[in-house]
Amino acid sequence: METTAFPGWIVRDAATFEQLDLALLDDLDTTVRVRYSSINYKDALALHGRPGVVRRHPLVAGIDLTGEVLASRHPRWQPGDVVTLNGAGLGEDLHGGLAGLAAVNGDDLVRVPAQLGPLRAAAIGTAGLTAALSLLALERQGLAPETGPVLVTGAGGGVGSIAVALLAAARYEVLAATGRPAELSEHLTALGAARVLDRTELTSSGKPLGKQRWAGVVDAVGGPVLAGALAGLQHSGVATTCGLAGGAEFPGNVLPFILRGVSLLGIDSVRTPPLRREAAWQRLTQLLDPALLDSLTRVVPLAEAKDAAASLLAGTGTGRIVVDVA
Ligand code: NDP
Repeated sequence: METTAFPGWIVRDAATFEQLDLALLDDLDTTVRVRYSSINYKDALALHGRPGVVRRHPLVAGIDLTGEVLASRHPRWQPGDVVTLNGAGLGEDLHGGLAGLAAVNGDDLVRVPAQLGPLRAAAIGTAGLTAALSLLALERQGLAPETGPVLVTGAGGGVGSIAVALLAAARYEVLAATGRPAELSEHLTALGAARVLDRTELTSSGKPLGKQRWAGVVDAVGGPVLAGALAGLQHSGVATTCGLAGGAEFPGNVLPFILRGVSLLGIDSVRTPPLRREAAWQRLTQLLDPALLDSLTRVVPLAEAKDAAASLLAGTGTGRIVVDVA
């Protein structure tokens, strides 16, 4: 391989943008020329030196990558294949995708569907994969459009925005809860929300049981918002929890579980087995309207990834940020 140096964000004590040496990469079976990465909440934490994501130093940041296979010893992959990878340790204990080159495990790669293309695959990224895994989990538990509305929390963020668009495309009535209703109402309605709620509606009463308003919940927020979402679930309703933007702890109560038979399902996109990843990507490709996906996506150059990530930590990020690496 001719390339020996490539640009990327590396986390030592802090994250810095540097020319990295090929020798830094691990000896894994597949080398990818990264074209796009993205900014997820975890990337924002890593790029801004917050603990809990990077578990090895120094480490190339970035939990997502999309690009072309340059070389592979894995039987599934050939040079030129367009692939994407979300999680699977990337940017946490394996060198990640916010760099021009990456060495990865071929088992974890997903082929980018031709009709999607690499930029839109990156726009989906971990956030979109997580939204789709949440939908699949709710449906495994019996949720269907006829069962009732689905509440999405943190609807303005990456997971939330894609969840709104995906659920609406799957014919669910979507209630989008946000802390920024005035700012985001029009946008969320355009993505497919039937109604936009102020998230204080979920947190104001503090009671464990409220009016039964929704059959399903996709929660990316945690904290009191999750408790409020559970309080509004219909009998036998089901909620997924994937995030902690509003707090890792939530003021839980057993009453929704024991009086209304609701279920709470955990979502972990990082260690999702390959077959489930494929199923989630298939659903995303079938359902997501490319124009809507574009409408919630902003593209920034690699050098600006850290600045762009600041909005996610401030809780003011909207939709998805794709990082143009090439
Ligand atoms: P974003 O920053 O894009 O979105 C988070 C959204 O949460 C914000 O846009 C905001 O939405 C809402 N929010 C932010 N701060 C608060 C607060 N203090 N109280 C209530 N709501 C708040 O992040 P992502 O969508 O990328 O990720 C969301 C969460 O999901 C993160 O915690 C992330 O780590 C987690 N996650 C987990 C995954 C998994 O596999 N389990 C995979 C992907 C993400 P609004 O303004 O509309 O209210």
